[in-house]
Amino acid sequence: MEDMLPQEIIRRKRDGAKLSPEEIRFFVRGIADGSVGEGQIGSFAMAVFFRGMEMEERVVLTEAMRDSGAVLRWEGLDGPVLDKHSTGGVGDCTSLILGPVVAACGGFVPMISGRGLGHTGGTLDKLDSIPGYRTSPEEADFKRVVKEVGVAIIGQTAALAPADKRFYAVRDVTATVESIDLITASILSKKLAEGLDGLVMDVKTGSGAFMPTYEDSRRLAESIVGVATGAGVRTTGMLTDMNQPLASCAGNALEVLECVRLLRGELGAGRLLELSIRLSAELVGLGGLGEDAEGMVREALASGEAAERFGRMVAALGGPVDFVERAEFHLPEAPVVKAVEAGEEGRLTGVETRELGLAVVELGGGRRQAEDSIDYAVGLSGFLPVGAAIEVGQALCLVHARSEDDWEQAARRIRAAHRVGAGGADPGPVVQELLR
Ligand code: URA
Repeated sequence: MEDMLPQEIIRRKRDGAKLSPEEIRFFVRGIADGSVGEGQIGSFAMAVFFRGMEMEERVVLTEAMRDSGAVLRWEGLDGPVLDKHSTGGVGDCTSLILGPVVAACGGFVPMISGRGLGHTGGTLDKLDSIPGYRTSPEEADFKRVVKEVGVAIIGQTAALAPADKRFYAVRDVTATVESIDLITASILSKKLAEGLDGLVMDVKTGSGAFMPTYEDSRRLAESIVGVATGAGVRTTGMLTDMNQPLASCAGNALEVLECVRLLRGELGAGRLLELSIRLSAELVGLGGLGEDAEGMVREALASGEAAERFGRMVAALGGPVDFVERAEFHLPEAPVVKAVEAGEEGRLTGVETRELGLAVVELGGGRRQAEDSIDYAVGLSGFLPVGAAIEVGQALCLVHARSEDDWEQAARRIRAAHRVGAGGADPGPVVQELLR
């Protein structure tokens, strides 16, 4: 292993060879310890982008990246360790519901989540809108909360999968992010470092999704299910619709409030509830927690047990002890809240979901640059579902802005993002396909 050269490994991949496990491990070790240069990482990524990797290579790459840092070990838990990951969307706050629900059903959820990326929101930014909530606790605290409450949602730590951090930073500036092999290894190296027994991977598809086409989303889901299963973790892939926002709002504090209201039983049917139930039930089933997984999930919501777990998690990580009861009081509110009105009548035949996500970023609810700070209060609420009948002057949604100028700018984008027409519009099911 010592006499390997990074440039020879790059050359072999460039020429389409299948790399040996030793070569892949050598290269990943070099990424982590700095002995492989940035130019070499970029060239390797480009070679993989064009030549691809076989399933066996992907599993080795993922495991090597996972093992570049700490892998959490769980002892003394009387239930399976479970988690969900999503490729990201708009108004997708299912993690805040699923974590407590699965905990209420007997699972343990050590969820390490990310910040918003591009037009998509991030679970971590949403939790940061809760005053006092610590998204970077000490590892011992994180483990204690998982053990005592059943769920803790925190941010990426420097200890987990450090090779991915360096690899991703180079991919980001060398046009090599969009490789299914590399995305698979990147996502799973971090998730598998949580020491999981079961994983549900929610791969979004549609106008607000990260992958451009249904076929690409499907290939990513297949790749993730294959690699995670190959690495010994029971995994289901779900292809889910992102042709409209999932919640009725998008924005950090607004989404937290919608989740709390859902957990308190104040919101009826909707796509957010439906998908949260489907994803949670899949995990409860993967964890072998009961025969009637969906019934258990519904009961966890109806009984208030999931709401209680959420409240205990928030308090244990430094947030208000009465957060579930008084979220409205604790969350920040924007000074300008006004409706954007429809200019024509008809049916909502579709929305450019990505544009709605970008409107939130422009309002200050997401980042233009990695170091930007976030305005947690801003966003959009009261979205109409695709297929809704619309009259002139009816609110398409409410814009929560910091200023009148910001409101104007967002309103223009939102009007352009809504397609109103004469025909019918069938939004299709929220879960499009299951891959097991
Ligand atoms: N998210 C990740 O964590 N990694 C990727 O490569 C793409 C999206």
